[in-house]
Amino acid sequence: MDQGKIIIISAPSGCGKSTIINAIMERGNVDMHFSVSATNRAPRQGEVNGVNYHFLSDQQFRDAIARDAFIEYEEVYPGRFYGTLKEEVEHRCRMGQTVVLDIDVKGGVRVKEMYGDRARSIFIQPPSVDELRRRLESRATDSAEAIDQRVSKAEFELSYAPMYDACVTNDDLASAIADTEREIKEFIGK
Ligand code: 5GP
Repeated sequence: MDQGKIIIISAPSGCGKSTIINAIMERGNVDMHFSVSATNRAPRQGEVNGVNYHFLSDQQFRDAIARDAFIEYEEVYPGRFYGTLKEEVEHRCRMGQTVVLDIDVKGGVRVKEMYGDRARSIFIQPPSVDELRRRLESRATDSAEAIDQRVSKAEFELSYAPMYDACVTNDDLASAIADTEREIKEFIGK
């Protein structure tokens, strides 16, 4: 049976990763399915359960770990867990479909190791850390404390960039969308 492919996309928070993924999905030039992760963090305004994430309670997340429901999961922020559900990925892969994962750097590197040549890992980076802080502040969805946390996390995440198959700098959004789409198309076409 044909084996589907996995696209792994990681980026420090605020680098436009979700915007880029959504734009590519909406353009419809590439046939890929978004894997909806599970998390125990609260939904942000506008986020929809089952669309952006499967929002679970702490207990539900622990139960999912216990029944081996995850391909991988990480405590991305203290007490905040995120995991890729087997049910989001495995049956699509069996049907030969391409699945896109929006996951953190540790999860991204782990999934790449698991899937090898069947996966392409793409790292989206900000033009600079200062620019990233400015974007997070203008997004105004997080407190000042959360922004500080995300910026120091970004510095750590940037050190993983060399472990990815490809890096895209999001300086200009339209170019970053086009570059990411090209990377994906090239890989799927193989
Ligand atoms: P946010 O809370 O901003 O939506 O996401 C925080 C971080 O968690 C992002 O870096 C995002 O890519 C990552 N993330 C989302 N889903 C998963 C997942 O299933 N596994 C892992 N390891 N990280 C995830």
